[in-house]
Amino acid sequence: AKSRGRGNFQFFSAEMNAATHERLLLENRLWQALEQNEFELYLQAQVDLRSGAIIGAEALLRWHHPQLGMVGPDRFIPIAEESGLILPLGDWVLQRVVELLDRWRGLGLGHLRLAANLSARQCHGTSLLPQLDRLLGQTGIDPALLELEITESAAMQDPERSRELLQQLRARGIKVAIDDFGTGYSSLSYLKLFEPDRIKIDRGFVKDIETDPNDAVIVTATIGLAHALGLEVIAEGVETQAQADFLRSKHCDEGQGYLFARPVTVAQFEALAAASLNE
Ligand code: C2E
Ligand code: CA
Ligand code: CA
Ligand code: CA
Repeated sequence: AKSRGRGNFQFFSAEMNAATHERLLLENRLWQALEQNEFELYLQAQVDLRSGAIIGAEALLRWHHPQLGMVGPDRFIPIAEESGLILPLGDWVLQRVVELLDRWRGLGLGHLRLAANLSARQCHGTSLLPQLDRLLGQTGIDPALLELEITESAAMQDPERSRELLQQLRARGIKVAIDDFGTGYSSLSYLKLFEPDRIKIDRGFVKDIETDPNDAVIVTATIGLAHALGLEVIAEGVETQAQADFLRSKHCDEGQGYLFARPVTVAQFEALAAASLNE
């Protein structure tokens, strides 16, 4: 940018400053934010593609930043990963998710599954399993209603450790989904190694499913292979009825996306799920 003259350089550095400024605003407050209760879990419905019924939800973090307003996880999770806050934050998410499953038993929503995202650090650290054991022991929820989403790229950072972790989770009856499936470098053969319960087909493949023949072929083959291995399949980022119809015609089990519901507050999700029961 420097060589293109003074004006360009100033423009470039002003943009840099804005980005750096935001990053500092986020970074400075991140540790405090947990103590100050500035995080909230939003829930996005997951539906059975055949019946349309809500069968569960994914928990998605939001941060109510006092200066910046609502901040999405794409902006602060990477910072939390770098700084290490992701560990206490991840603990908080799991605690909250188990509390909700416990609460739902008393609300007639005890059939609903709830999924939490795990960061790479959580997967490869040592505190996850003891924490899960403590939470399960305290509440007595059905572990099969708790699902943990591990991204393909996090799992592939250390395939052997990931395999062991998934085996430990399986031994406790906790469900595991491989998130963002198809975006990383893993081959389908890793599915046999990890033995997850479910794969989540990444939004990137769903987006152009009707117009891009390659994406259609990849999605169709992925569903077929997952089923042949005894795994369930959920597609994320379903935005149109045509996408849902295509996925259903290929026997995809479940869907998640704006077509069905946006991520909403816990209270809004509970109302949605209760209404879905009466349909
Ligand atoms: P993800 O796990 O792939 O979550 C799905 C993201 O897609 C969410 O973004 C969701 O709001 C968005 N989405 C859902 N349906 C649609 C749709 O139909 N169209 C489009 N365009 N987008 C849709 P969100 O909530 O901003 O989360 C972004 C990412 O942040 C998540 O991607 C996940 O990787 C991470 N994240 C969220 N919560 C947590 C958490 O508690 N822990 C960790 N480690 N990561 C989290
Ligand atoms: Ca996810
Ligand atoms: Ca995903
Ligand atoms: Ca994704």
